[in-house]
Amino acid sequence: MTEEFGEKLTPLPYRIALLPGDGIGPEVTDEAARLLGAVSRLDPAITFEVERLAWNADYFLEHGTMMPPDGLQILGEFDAIFLGAVGDKRVPDHIALRQLIFAIRQGFDQYVNLRPVKLLRGAPTPLVDRTESDIDMVFVRENSEGEYSGVGSLEYAGTPDEVALQTSVFSRKGIERVMRFAFDMARARHQPLQSISKGNALNYSGVLWDRIFAETCELYPDVEAENLLVDAAAYHMVRTPERFGVVVASNLFGDILTDLGAALAGGLGFAASANLCPGKEFPSMFEPVHGSAPDIAGRHAANPIASLWAVGMMLSDLGYAHWERWILDAVESVLLEGSWRTPDLGGHARTRDVTDAVIQALETSQRLAPSA
Ligand code: ATP
Repeated sequence: MTEEFGEKLTPLPYRIALLPGDGIGPEVTDEAARLLGAVSRLDPAITFEVERLAWNADYFLEHGTMMPPDGLQILGEFDAIFLGAVGDKRVPDHIALRQLIFAIRQGFDQYVNLRPVKLLRGAPTPLVDRTESDIDMVFVRENSEGEYSGVGSLEYAGTPDEVALQTSVFSRKGIERVMRFAFDMARARHQPLQSISKGNALNYSGVLWDRIFAETCELYPDVEAENLLVDAAAYHMVRTPERFGVVVASNLFGDILTDLGAALAGGLGFAASANLCPGKEFPSMFEPVHGSAPDIAGRHAANPIASLWAVGMMLSDLGYAHWERWILDAVESVLLEGSWRTPDLGGHARTRDVTDAVIQALETSQRLAPSA
């Protein structure tokens, strides 16, 4: 199904592949599509053609795979991909993830997973006496190799002697490119950089990571950078979150620390992410960090803010950084006003109501803006 938003006379529409997925995935991607429609209405120079691709658990049960054999070719024709969430108890998680999300991340060389951990005004944090100025960091998670490379084997499967071998793959090229991306970002944001590893225990991968971090520091003498062990980083994120700016971490460590970050910044309903192919050879993919949340699926209770934020990140990547700022401003004004909160924030608003309120706040701010 294809939906078109915006006027016909404008430049070619951006083609967006929407992968709603499972559980609350379709609910939050519907909200993302509605926000894109609103952006087009407010700025007719930006138009979108949104196509939904139902590659999810139902698709797997019918076809035996999470996407068609030419799935990457199909997605390669789009300007960007927007994913809801994948996860359904009828399909083992490791199969669903590897056949869809990891296949896209690795197939499209989306080697940067950008995850902001930023407390919005009006969002709750469990940390006492902490405000937005204390919790404002962004994770640059290595997204193509490391602990999630998928290399390994199961030996003597099903016997008392079975052994699982899970090999982490850390290449110099892979570390260098993500490290430089993070340093560039720290320089641009005028923030300190933290490199996360476990070089004292991981005597090959951790040592190489730390060595390349030290080499990169030499190239960026103007960036204040420090090396933290992953366990110490978890401790400091809670005790002194203001210490963190741009945080570069491997796949697994970045995954775990960003869930901690989500908890600090209001919960999973606030965690957005971008899987970037910085060279732009392939489309990038944007998604809320949360899973399919089967416990609340179908109840109109999902918090759509992570999904709306991910739309902002997508617009930023397409060259409209001001729209990400405007979307976040609108979300903050809705949070501060307080009437439209989903149950995870102690309110009674439905998913759709929150998006409506955000769109209304955007419309109001655009009407009031001098250039609007
Ligand atoms: P996955 O393994 O795919 O990350 P998970 O079960 O670990 O999945 P989620 O599916 O994200 O994690 O859900 C964890 C908890 O957070 C659930 O109780 C869920 O209801 C809640 N949750 C997740 N996302 C949202 C959201 N957008 N709005 C409200 N609650 C959410």
